[in-house]
Amino acid sequence: MPKKIKKKALKNAKVKKAKASKSKKTSSKFKWVYNFEDTPRLNTQSLKNLLGGKGANLSEMIRIKLPVPPGFTITTEACNEYYNLNKKYPAALVKQVKDSIKKVEKKIKKSFGNASNPLLVSVRSGARVSMPGMMDTVLNLGLNDKTVIGLAKKTNNEAFAYDSYRRFIQMYSNVVLGVNHHNFEDLIENYKLTKGVLLDTELTAEDWKSLIGSFREQIIKETGKDFPQDVHQQLWGAIGAVFQSWKNHRANVYRKLNNIPEEWGTAVNVQSMVFGNMGQDCATGVAFTRNPSTGENSFYGEYLINAQGEDVVAGIRTPQNITKKARLEAGSKELSMQESMPKAFNELVTIYKKLEKHYRDMQDIEFTVENKKLWMLQTRSGKRTAKASIKIAVDMVKEKLINKDEAVLRIDPKILDTLLHPTLDPNATKNIVAKGLPASPGAATGKVTFTADDAEQLKAQGQKSILVRLETSPEDIHGMHAAEGILTCRGGMTSHAAVVARGMGRPCVSGAGTIQIDYESKLFKVGSHEVKEGDIVTLDGSTGEVMLGEVNTIKPDISGDFSTLMAWADKVRSLKIRTNAETPLDTKVARDFGAEGIGLCRTEHMFFDDERILYVRQMILSKNVEDRNEALKKILPFQKKDFIEIFKTMSGLPVTVRLLDPPLHEFLPKSEKEISGVASSLNITEREIKNRINDLHEENPMLGHRGCRLAISYPEIYEMQCEAIFEALMECQKAKVKAIIPEIMIPLICTAKELEILRALVDRVAKIVEKKYSIKLSYLVGTMIELPRAALNAFEISKQADFFSFGTNDLTQTTLGISRDDSGKFLDDYVNNNIFKIDPFISIDVDGVGQLVKIACENGKKNNSKIKLGICGEHGGDPDSIDFCHNAGLHYVSCSPYRVPIARLAAAQAKIRSKR
Ligand code: ADP
Ligand code: MG
Ligand code: MG
Repeated sequence: MPKKIKKKALKNAKVKKAKASKSKKTSSKFKWVYNFEDTPRLNTQSLKNLLGGKGANLSEMIRIKLPVPPGFTITTEACNEYYNLNKKYPAALVKQVKDSIKKVEKKIKKSFGNASNPLLVSVRSGARVSMPGMMDTVLNLGLNDKTVIGLAKKTNNEAFAYDSYRRFIQMYSNVVLGVNHHNFEDLIENYKLTKGVLLDTELTAEDWKSLIGSFREQIIKETGKDFPQDVHQQLWGAIGAVFQSWKNHRANVYRKLNNIPEEWGTAVNVQSMVFGNMGQDCATGVAFTRNPSTGENSFYGEYLINAQGEDVVAGIRTPQNITKKARLEAGSKELSMQESMPKAFNELVTIYKKLEKHYRDMQDIEFTVENKKLWMLQTRSGKRTAKASIKIAVDMVKEKLINKDEAVLRIDPKILDTLLHPTLDPNATKNIVAKGLPASPGAATGKVTFTADDAEQLKAQGQKSILVRLETSPEDIHGMHAAEGILTCRGGMTSHAAVVARGMGRPCVSGAGTIQIDYESKLFKVGSHEVKEGDIVTLDGSTGEVMLGEVNTIKPDISGDFSTLMAWADKVRSLKIRTNAETPLDTKVARDFGAEGIGLCRTEHMFFDDERILYVRQMILSKNVEDRNEALKKILPFQKKDFIEIFKTMSGLPVTVRLLDPPLHEFLPKSEKEISGVASSLNITEREIKNRINDLHEENPMLGHRGCRLAISYPEIYEMQCEAIFEALMECQKAKVKAIIPEIMIPLICTAKELEILRALVDRVAKIVEKKYSIKLSYLVGTMIELPRAALNAFEISKQADFFSFGTNDLTQTTLGISRDDSGKFLDDYVNNNIFKIDPFISIDVDGVGQLVKIACENGKKNNSKIKLGICGEHGGDPDSIDFCHNAGLHYVSCSPYRVPIARLAAAQAKIRSKR
């Protein structure tokens, strides 16, 4: 660390300490602003925390000697302090900004507010992670009626100077003064109509001057004030707007959706301008170092000649390809950057390769060419589809950029979900009506809707929608989230719609130019078709096709890179992954996805089958043991058959069978019609049935006569189930199925005594079966831990148990005293008020439920060092909970079949993290 910087860092550390004892960072020495070239040498994450992602990466690019226009970053700490001070700037900030501007002025030999040689800057927001809800960038700040003349003279390009000024007025008025941009767009459109021109680029300096006059009148009308001419006032207005955008509605929504804490704050970047709008040898563009849809290792991007800022992503003009290869593939006649600006293109290629090597990840970059000279304006790790993220991780291991552990850590387990679900059947008949760009892969079907709010409303009604827009903007985020897929008429592969959809894993077709939307009549026209709001359409985000109606889908392919990555994950993880399944179909899906056994086979699901429910009801309605045994005898062969099938599909692996758990009344007939049907087939009166239903009614069934309590009252039920399990085991042995060891699980144990009694029951039945066939049976007996008392008494209970399986659904209900079925009404409020960080039924409540799990594990192991420990609640498929399970020393997690790959990856990540 250079001495000077070290001193500064030390000073800040001291000030921070002082702050803890006194209060605010009031010291004038505290550093709120860093010029790009002298940011502190912190590790990447700490630097991002301090300067935001954009600021940290700008300074990093300067450090590795890339061409970046000079500028400075106001820290995230300054933003937080601004809020601490009730939206006032800390005193030292104003002076430090001034000093930093001076440094920039010196570097590029222009000065801020100077009428003959003005420095212009951009003001850009930049939080730790990129956030579409934040303030839009303001470009060309520092222009006013005087400096614009200087700029025109200096560049000898009046059209450019006034184009820049009008852009500045538009942007600043929109994002800082709150004047809706439609005001300006309408004025421009009308002007062009009167003049008879099509493109903005056809307007002259005189045209812009006249339009600027109209803009100013409009601003006075809307705000009561003229457009600010003082450049410092302009700057502080923009800085304040960035700070305030941290807590605007859009940002709040995005933060909530993505679990971004409010305490992070945003940084502000002030950077000297470079101009892509100075003529034909100027351009602006965005690019990905690899294809963000497929992951293919080829440079991919779009650019626009004689344009500025976000023209490329805004969808106003259709951008051109960067590489010749992409242009030819797209069949476009507009020259690629490779062809029109070969020198800048080659430089860009060298730079992107350097950036990939440096960051060891695919980058999303933004650049501008000013009079043939290339300038880098941003780099960050690029958003990508699930498929691309796996391909890129696997390729980078092959390219020796990263190692296997890093590759495994790179993939967010949750995204695997999108790969495991169906895609369009290539052989299905499709009624294709339009083709756009394949902006985000996957198939989606739903009702056409034209506004984000409508999409959200449909979702609330449980309906699927396709959001159709000319183009999307950050205001549409909630609708994009609610929709199954997104279709836009304008914009390229790097448009807002495309980038956000890929990030969310939503299929998206962008830039489908043949579609004409009529928002007012709520329909779109394409060719001879008219598609109305509510009509069903299908999108294929992998091909860009738009189809009428619903189209058949097929199973996903999980070989190739996916299986390579999963094999790496399997090699490192120590947690075993089982599945919760009871049907042969689910069992097979889970095994194909890599399940290593069944962690929860719920036997009650087997009772509901049409054929058997009658006997189950007969069993429940029986008034004495003899009648009940009679009914149970009829159920036995069904159960036995089920187990044989499951044992066969899971041959060679462990299968945990949970004995009957729910309260008996769940099986009874409910409607009058059902009741009379049951009455006649069982030959008893309806009255008898109704009486029995009344007898069995419970005020609080979750805490009622269920689980092992049923077997304490009616042991013959569990006896029948055990007999079915052991008989099935016998049959499998006879059929030479590779051995499985059933793990018989007794639910809702509260005391050691209950388990002692029921374990004896299991052993008794086993003896009978063993004697009958004169063989020896291998099996385990254990319990679910789903009551706090059981967790606390694990030491005693483990004397009777070969295994514990944490039933964290009920354990969460009973520990928190919150019913899962009723919590929907208020849990949101708890999350919003920060009482819970996340819904405890989704991710394990580490401080409460987690404590009980740990206590039970420790005490269980004290008594029985070989005790098997697992989890079978919904949490078994949640990556954060899996991390907890790994660290708590569990041996396996069990989850639903489609979550098995997610759990395999999450378990590997937990292990890698714990090694570090
Ligand atoms: P976002 O976070 O939405 O990407 P940025 O702050 O990156 O916003 O700004 C958007 C665009 O504005 C950039 O991609 C770039 O084209 C343009 N821009 C920002 N700063 C400058 C600058 N100093 N000179 C030229 N163009 C700039
Ligand atoms: Mg933006
Ligand atoms: Mg950007």
